[in-house]
Amino acid sequence: MAGYPKKPKEVSEFGKFLYKSQDEIRAVQNENLQKQVVLLEKYSPYYSKLFKDRGISSADFKTVDDLEKIPSLNKKDYMADPMSFRLTIPPDAPVQPHERIMWGVHYTTGTTSGVPTPFFSNTHDYFGNIMQLARMCEVGAITNNDIVANIFPLTPVPHIGFWKTVDYCIASGARCVSAVTGSKYDPFPIHNPLDHAVDMVERYRCTVLSGIVSFVRRVIMRAEELGRDFSSVRHCFVLGEACPQGMRNDMRSRLENTGAKNPFICSGLGFTEMQGTTLECTENGGMHICAPDLHFLEIIDEKTGKRLPDGEQGLLAITHIDRRGTCFLRYIIGDITTLTHETCPNCGRNDVRVEMQPIRTMELVNIKGTLINPDILKTEITEIKGIEEYQIVFTKEDKKDPLSLDKLEIKVAIAEGFAKDDVEKQVVARARKAVEMTPEIVFVDMKEIFDPTKTLKSQRVVDERPRVE
Ligand SMILES: [Zn+2]
Repeated sequence: MAGYPKKPKEVSEFGKFLYKSQDEIRAVQNENLQKQVVLLEKYSPYYSKLFKDRGISSADFKTVDDLEKIPSLNKKDYMADPMSFRLTIPPDAPVQPHERIMWGVHYTTGTTSGVPTPFFSNTHDYFGNIMQLARMCEVGAITNNDIVANIFPLTPVPHIGFWKTVDYCIASGARCVSAVTGSKYDPFPIHNPLDHAVDMVERYRCTVLSGIVSFVRRVIMRAEELGRDFSSVRHCFVLGEACPQGMRNDMRSRLENTGAKNPFICSGLGFTEMQGTTLECTENGGMHICAPDLHFLEIIDEKTGKRLPDGEQGLLAITHIDRRGTCFLRYIIGDITTLTHETCPNCGRNDVRVEMQPIRTMELVNIKGTLINPDILKTEITEIKGIEEYQIVFTKEDKKDPLSLDKLEIKVAIAEGFAKDDVEKQVVARARKAVEMTPEIVFVDMKEIFDPTKTLKSQRVVDERPRVE
């Protein structure tokens, strides 16, 4: 069975929290929320105003169910005034220095204005984060015996990928080697090419590959091409994109070609606002959130704003229940998914799990008047053998005429030894099945779709259609 089940040999004191009952976890969440809203009322410019405007006070929040008294928070409201979400704790406040000293800042991507949005953490938050990451490593079976290859790029804007990989090694005692890939910066030529990552994994006998799904796959493909020895790799901890079964199978079989034995392809949903990631304890087993005492997750109905029960699809939202830097209540992450509170059948933990591979809300596309989910199409394409890279392009029949018909185009880079005709037939059939449309297939070079020296990850979906106002 691929993706070996893992039961940790040792569980840390704080790791035991995840084995408490649902009721015990919920009681801690309620207690923490009560303390958090007192802080928000006093020190959060945004929430002190919101509470006043709505005629409510911190005393109105007894349990996490009371969160429905306030509306969910959208990314654009946070982006409009990020500083108003940061607690302004005065120096003479009756708190520990940890709670008001700024430890660091990360930025979220996906802004429309092109200006990254800061997310601040205080010392209190960082220490809590180390606990969260230590638990995360226990869930994902990363231990102090591991050598982690950090193949997240070192980016101009500090994102969580690179830094939280370093931090989870601090938290778990694993050794960490960083490839320092990414776009070049002339004044300091510190960045390395992809081949450096390949060398590093082999030389240091890395056991865990940690990075963005499509980039980690490229490192593996290159190792395969060069006939390198990746027999030490037992675990791929891949984030930043969905990781459908076809992608897992592809990465695993390529890794096995480099000597690895049945590696675990571990998918997670990471986001800045939780300073880390949810992750799987076994493949397709749901992604544990690891710190239900720091974060309360819920699924919100897009239309009514109400919380949805387990198993129902909606918008994923996070509420911080023990933070001191940037703090949110019911913040919409931008993914559609489902949650489950069921005890994990694989590891026995009781923290909530993100059940479905998330769909980014921005990725739902209207083409020819029909709203389609490109993720379903991606899942289908990854099932086809012989495709090195692909890209789904929404364009126009006549590219010069913005009013001409929408067209679905799929760019495909084909692997050696595969017949174009055959691959084309399969892509067309799969597309028809997934989105009930017939695509035009365009064969291109792998680099035209994704050049790891230029971008962080492959852009699987491109909408080239001009906006008609
Ligand atoms: Zn589990």
